[in-house]
Amino acid sequence: MASPPPHICALVLRRFWSCPPGGWPRAASPPRSAAGALAGFLCLRSENLLAFALGVTILGVCHYTLTVKGSHLATHGALTESKRWSKIWVLFFVEVCTSFTAEHAKYGHVKMHHGYTNVLGLGDSSTWRLPCLNRYVYMFLAPLLIPIITPLVAVERLREVELGTALRTLGLISLGLYSHYWLLLNVSGFQSPSSALVCMLITRSLLAHPYLHVNIFQHIGLPMFSRDKKPQRIHMMSLGVLNLPRLPVLDWAFGHSLISCHVEHHLFPRLSDNMCLKVKPVVSQFLREKQLPYNEDSYLARFRLFLHHYEELMVQTPPITELVGLQ
Ligand SMILES: [Zn+2]
Repeated sequence: MASPPPHICALVLRRFWSCPPGGWPRAASPPRSAAGALAGFLCLRSENLLAFALGVTILGVCHYTLTVKGSHLATHGALTESKRWSKIWVLFFVEVCTSFTAEHAKYGHVKMHHGYTNVLGLGDSSTWRLPCLNRYVYMFLAPLLIPIITPLVAVERLREVELGTALRTLGLISLGLYSHYWLLLNVSGFQSPSSALVCMLITRSLLAHPYLHVNIFQHIGLPMFSRDKKPQRIHMMSLGVLNLPRLPVLDWAFGHSLISCHVEHHLFPRLSDNMCLKVKPVVSQFLREKQLPYNEDSYLARFRLFLHHYEELMVQTPPITELVGLQ
């Protein structure tokens, strides 16, 4: 392994920091998603099966754009430079759209997962492990429960926050769920509450499979570190993070920072999605020149790996990787 090469920040800053004042390209997907969602709700009015299926697909993709891409970038403060708007966007995307608590999303993702990527007991993605489930139930059926489990976990965690925060979260989660239900009854013309609820569940679980899979594919199975001997940040990210290839639907719904630029996102978590894509060639070239890993694999290859080595990857405790001279 090469000696520590920590000039990547300087390299990326020099190449990309000279943007015009206030001119970082920011993710502009929320307005497009809202317009798309309206088209989706209107398509559901149709008696034509094809138009109805199109409506469900549009609503599902828009839902994941708001809840995964929007929430993820909002928790990192990567949607705007304004602190006040950052707080508003986190509440909107995480609590109203995703039905989760903003405080826990920030703590779990930004502080623990990014701060201690692949450090056992801290940011080791263990929340995604469910050893009681067998590989087929986990990979194929469990994702369908994500839309139901998410608000339940959020409510359970409200015990840990102040009363005012808990009431705000409960109010915003209820607002998000009720608005979705109301739009299906009043814009899409659903006749019964049960049919509207079934439609909510279908659209909210449309991309649940890739959502669960991507979360385990990009860290689990890569080197894991112990708390007291964790390597330098550049080594931690180059060894413990993996990029998938560009995949159009997932790029749109989850964002480049979660799909093809995950390594870049872990190195520069406050970069917008567009900027992650722009710094990718510099980061990959830099890591290769310094003989550091730049992990890439296809969705299908990771899927096969997890299905065949499920016990080893998702049930057993992962072994700690010792990096001589790098801790
Ligand atoms: Zn992140």
